[in-house]
Parts: sequence; structure tokens; C-alpha cells
Amino acid sequence: MTAKTFEELSKENQELVRSAIKVRSHAYVPQSGYQVGSALRVRGNDTIFVGCNVENAIYLASHAEQVAITNAVAALGGEPKPYIESIAIALFTEGGLHAFPCGFCRQMINEFGSEETIVIGVLINQQGDIQSLEQTTLGELLPYSFGSHYFIQE
Ligand SMILES: [Zn+2]
Repeated sequence: MTAKTFEELSKENQELVRSAIKVRSHAYVPQSGYQVGSALRVRGNDTIFVGCNVENAIYLASHAEQVAITNAVAALGGEPKPYIESIAIALFTEGGLHAFPCGFCRQMINEFGSEETIVIGVLINQQGDIQSLEQTTLGELLPYSFGSHYFIQE
């Protein structure tokens, strides 16, 4: 995990961070009030796919990363699988704690990424200004991962 400044990110990843921060404000979170935005880029495509978390009355939430991945698959199709090169998540926490995708979302990213997939956690303040950035890889967040290659026969 590496702390970065915004300027140290590649131009492409700066765009991802901006998109994740922007879409965060669209989150629908009547239960938790915890808004998360996510943006990702897939190999061979310039489109940035975004997602925000969406809750409902039975407390089953769609997570921002899950929504961004679903949007990419909906736009591009699942075959061949879109490959996630990098994904950013943006959020605000009361205590200023840094956060990365939850376990479920790490598994979702793994389905369409690899251990080299770049994951950028963006901590913002209530005004949406960047407080800190951490860059890591899915391999660091989900070591010894289980993937569909275990049960798909080629
Ligand atoms: Zn999640």
C-alpha cells in the first residue's frame, strides 16, 4: 500500500479519482448515510465506468464497486470478460479512517481483474476534497484468492 498525492497518479488514474468523487454524491443511502463512489477502467477501452452504493428498505445494499463493475459488463458484455486495469473508490469517514473495497467487492474485482489490478482508495472530507490517497493492488488486498479459473474447464 503506497500513499500518493493526486499529482503522482497517472493522468488516467487522476480521471478515475475525479469520477469516483463525483459519482459518490449520487449514492442512495437512507439507512447508513455512508456514501461511496467508484470508478473503473477496463483494458482496451477509454470509457470510465462508475457506480455508487444504493440501499433499500430490506437492508440489502449494492456496493459502489459492484455497481461500477455491473455497468461495465452491461455496456461491454461479459464475453470476452472486461479486464479491470484500475479501480478507485472514494468515501468520507468520520474518523478519517482509510478504506478499501470490502471482501465481497474484492471478490467481484477479482472476477474481472487480476492480482495486478490497481486499487486506489480515496479519503475525502465532507466538502469532497481529497484528504489522502492510497494505491495498492488487488493481489495485496486479496492474497491467495479463489477465482472462476478453479472451476471453468477450458
Ligand atoms: Zn463492497
